[in-house]
Amino acid sequence: MMQLHYEMDTRNEILRFAQTELTYYLDHLLGGTAEAQRMDIYLEVNSDEWDPVDDRYAICARASHIDIQGSNPRSVLLGVYRLLFELGCRFPLPGRAHEYVPQISLDSITVNLKESAAFRHRGVCIEGADSLENILAHIDWLPKIGCNSFFLQHLEPEAFLDNWYSHKYNPKLVPEELSNNRKQQIYQEINRAIACRGLLHHRGGHGWTSQAIGFHHACVRSGQKPSASVQRLLAEIDGRREYWNGVPSNTNLCYSEPDARRAFEETVVQYAQAHPNVDYLHVWLADEYNNICECDQCRATTPSDQYISLLNGIDAQLTASGLSTHIVLLLYQELLWPPIKEKLNNPSRFTLMFAPISRTFSRSYSQRGSIPPIPPYVRNKIELPHSLEENIAFLEAWQKQCPLDSFIYDYPLGRAHYGDLGYHHIAQIIWQDIRGLRELGLNGYISCQELRAASPNAFPEYVIGRMLWNPSQSFETLEEEYYSVLYGVHWQEICSYLTTISKYSSCDYFNGIGPRQDPSMEDLWKQGELFVSRNYPHVRNLLHTQTPLQNQMVSLLDYHAKYCTLLMRALSALAAGDNQTANLHWINFMEYIRNAELDFQPYLDVYRVLEVATKYTGFSLDMPR
Ligand SMILES: [Zn+2]
Repeated sequence: MMQLHYEMDTRNEILRFAQTELTYYLDHLLGGTAEAQRMDIYLEVNSDEWDPVDDRYAICARASHIDIQGSNPRSVLLGVYRLLFELGCRFPLPGRAHEYVPQISLDSITVNLKESAAFRHRGVCIEGADSLENILAHIDWLPKIGCNSFFLQHLEPEAFLDNWYSHKYNPKLVPEELSNNRKQQIYQEINRAIACRGLLHHRGGHGWTSQAIGFHHACVRSGQKPSASVQRLLAEIDGRREYWNGVPSNTNLCYSEPDARRAFEETVVQYAQAHPNVDYLHVWLADEYNNICECDQCRATTPSDQYISLLNGIDAQLTASGLSTHIVLLLYQELLWPPIKEKLNNPSRFTLMFAPISRTFSRSYSQRGSIPPIPPYVRNKIELPHSLEENIAFLEAWQKQCPLDSFIYDYPLGRAHYGDLGYHHIAQIIWQDIRGLRELGLNGYISCQELRAASPNAFPEYVIGRMLWNPSQSFETLEEEYYSVLYGVHWQEICSYLTTISKYSSCDYFNGIGPRQDPSMEDLWKQGELFVSRNYPHVRNLLHTQTPLQNQMVSLLDYHAKYCTLLMRALSALAAGDNQTANLHWINFMEYIRNAELDFQPYLDVYRVLEVATKYTGFSLDMPR
């Protein structure tokens, strides 16, 4: 047996997990040699020297001895994966089937390094349609690429599981009903996966307003009108107090009504008390915008001032209950305008989250022009900022008013990525954005995204993880590191093929930004389709796969080539304004991805690409929403 030494304290579940991971991979790396069995392994938390809040590790590894120290147990696990990386392991996509573990000899092990994470917050927020296996594989993958956080959006991740198990928008698959009991088991399994890795567990989001009035499902339409006792708590808009477009979780409350305030605060506090495993609780108001109360009392202040006052109320109750749960506040829609009078009483409890959902992905934050002044706030007549500069203006106004720990919550892999069919452009934007994060005064990045965002590969997300640990890495280094393990000796041809596909792509067009009828877009998509159909057969001939991973990635490229031609054909007709032809091509595309969904399940979220294309791009869905 290997000799293992780790601190015996309450945190040792994570250290034990780190040890299991290390022994598993060493066994594979070394082919189970007898010498490996005699290795001394020390996994320790060095809390005397290092602040546990930020991740750092020191690794010293020799043939006979491995010592990994971390600033907290999670950092020890991060150190284990870093050592494995130095020994040649690669983790290019979620799931063990996608890993590369070389054979090495014991005496080749010499690693000495000491590093700390460049950013405090590094992770992903769940979106899309996800099976339990998708979620577990993703949680497993995050620390392997250097991330430390997982955001299980809403109060429970029910909506994302339902999207998958009901096979929303894919009538070719047979829906599976999850019993409530089974859902509870799934939640527990997800919680355990986050906890045993020590990942920072984020929860919450928009569900609080509806939870406060007794409606427990996020984003779901209510079949009924609010009762009189609920109605008086709702925001008054155009003289009426109703569910906003029928959806309780998109409905704001009247935040000057004492009962509404009390219900909101109590809902959050009770949840925090019942979920001490949650590290960062996101307390946001209702989703949507221009849905703010217009009563006289609410008009006398601003939504952000009301928000800060609610947060102060929550903080006081959490302090009284002895809870250290962090609260994440959101800069988004109405809340982009900073408060005028109110201030947070206990800033150390709070983290600011900047969510520029309406930004463009055609260029990075680092390529910004001069920052304009923010427009005045006009109740229920706001327009969302579109340019990067307008978005940044709001962030800077908040930072002046409220200097707090903060991170960006960004969406490159939430919608925009479907418009970049080569995944190369969006990876480059992410790389540039993360290089420029410090300049924006932000200490991290949480990517709000589909978990199944890996067609043709997961390079964009890989770049997120690797850059958030160390933003000084060049794009070319990451490119070589990633593509060579997936595609072997001819990786450069694949890289250049995918780079060209990205040139014939438009994140913004797919995301609904810009006119739908546009001759330059028609031409772009047409050129793209021609490029793929002419060049893919040539690229395909070059590939000589050597590993099971490379085989799998090549079959994904085959699938992706047809995906590109069908989708680009539809997009080109849409941009030409020829809706009838666009629809015919669109139907072919839907048929193709629905039929193949199970074959390529971990790579493409069929529900989500159809949702985005029919909500934002301009195509029609052939079934009820
Ligand atoms: Zn009001």
